[in-house]
Amino acid sequence: MSLDQIVIDTLVVGAGQAGIAMSEHLTQQGVPHIVLERDRIAERWRSGRWDSLVANGPAWHDRFPNLEFNGLDPNTFACKDRVADYFEDYAKTFEAPIHVGVEVLSVERNQGKPGFAVQTSNGLVQAERVVVATGAFQRPVVPPIVPQDARVTQIHSADYRNPQQLPPGGVLVIGAGSSGVQIADELQRAGRQVHLSVGPHERPPRSYRDRDFCWWLGVLGEWDKAAPPLGREHVTIAVSGAHGGETIDFRRLAHQGIVLVGLTKSFDNGRVHFHKDLATNVERGDDSYLALLDAADAYVARTGVDLPEEPSAREMLPDPECIVRPILSLDLAESGISTIIWATGYATDYGWLHVDTFDDKGKPQHQRGVSSEPGIYFLGLPWLSRRGSSFIWGVWHDAKYIADHIATQRKYLAYRKTVQGQ
Ligand SMILES: Cc1cc2nc3c(=O)[nH]c(=O)nc-3n(C[C@H](O)[C@H](O)[C@H](O)COP(=O)(O)OP(=O)(O)OC[C@H]3O[C@@H](n4cnc5c(N)ncnc54)[C@H](O)[C@@H]3O)c2cc1C
Repeated sequence: MSLDQIVIDTLVVGAGQAGIAMSEHLTQQGVPHIVLERDRIAERWRSGRWDSLVANGPAWHDRFPNLEFNGLDPNTFACKDRVADYFEDYAKTFEAPIHVGVEVLSVERNQGKPGFAVQTSNGLVQAERVVVATGAFQRPVVPPIVPQDARVTQIHSADYRNPQQLPPGGVLVIGAGSSGVQIADELQRAGRQVHLSVGPHERPPRSYRDRDFCWWLGVLGEWDKAAPPLGREHVTIAVSGAHGGETIDFRRLAHQGIVLVGLTKSFDNGRVHFHKDLATNVERGDDSYLALLDAADAYVARTGVDLPEEPSAREMLPDPECIVRPILSLDLAESGISTIIWATGYATDYGWLHVDTFDDKGKPQHQRGVSSEPGIYFLGLPWLSRRGSSFIWGVWHDAKYIADHIATQRKYLAYRKTVQGQ
């Protein structure tokens, strides 16, 4: 269907979880809107992740408030296709006005009249407001360390699907956030020799005293923190729902056969060099783990809530050889490494958004998603309003705030029109 010459109050770009949450709240506020999605609903969950991925949070937590996962034990972890199905079903519950297969090519502020001209692959749309719900995980980031002509296959975790996809041989996984550790674990279990480059990270216990860490972060107010602690802004979090949900424990991974190395530093003559920070990074990860146990114990003591003690959670495995005597460089060919997987995260991509709301580093300027450019909104970004903002449950609450803001703006404009009309 051509969208040419459509005039709409609010146009939402992207129909992932952020766009769907936005559409639900705009519907409730009676704001006329459309959602444009270049692929399919929840495409990232459908095709943008590896085959065995399951949600990092249990099904009771990683969902929107108004719908449970049909037929799934709430304490289990939904596989990625179930998550995609969930969002498709969710969009149907309120007949979200989503147009799939339509890419937004550019957004320009109109001159001399309100709103924005939105050029799409299906025609030119006029919109009073634009909500950018394209998320934080748009463009895979690979640091320029190993040249493309080095004799090793290099892929980003966004392009990893399964062990069979890789050429025979060992694998160096760079990055030990949730993606890197899960991929390294899967490859090692599939019989590959795996090295894992571990930088600074946090690793909460999967569960403690009979409660999942998602529950603990909730009752301890951690999901609602407004900003990351100073100096920890770029620290990744290592969690997993794989195998029924296990705590990420780097010593266990090493005892299982994965060789840990420090942060990847440089490359020359076929050798990758690593920082001497492995032990420190693992210790700091332990600190974050133990801090959560301490906070949970203090919560139990304070509130008297009846949860079983779990002293074994504080027992640590002995340091493996790779931590005691760290490897500081590896000759890829000699080590039999045929593939490097960069699990080094994502960046945003706003090449199509031609409005004046970015700082000199290209970061959107906004307050809780309301941008410095009137009429432009951002949703789904990490720490948009709080720690939970880029996750499934958090984005729903941020969308509500933005919909309220839009509804209030519409009321102001309606008031002005009434006065002029008299
Ligand atoms: C590996 C991985 C695992 C994750 N696991 C979890 C988890 O278990 N639990 C959790 O809560 N969070 C998880 N997240 C974080 C987050 O929930 C997901 O990344 C989620 O997909 C983000 O949703 P979103 O709607 O913000 O963005 P996306 O899902 O990326 O959706 C944005 C949509 O916008 C579309 N789009 C982009 N540009 C345009 C354009 N110009 N025109 C039209 N459409 C466009 C894209 O096609 C896409 O469908 C995970 C993230 C990653 C990377």
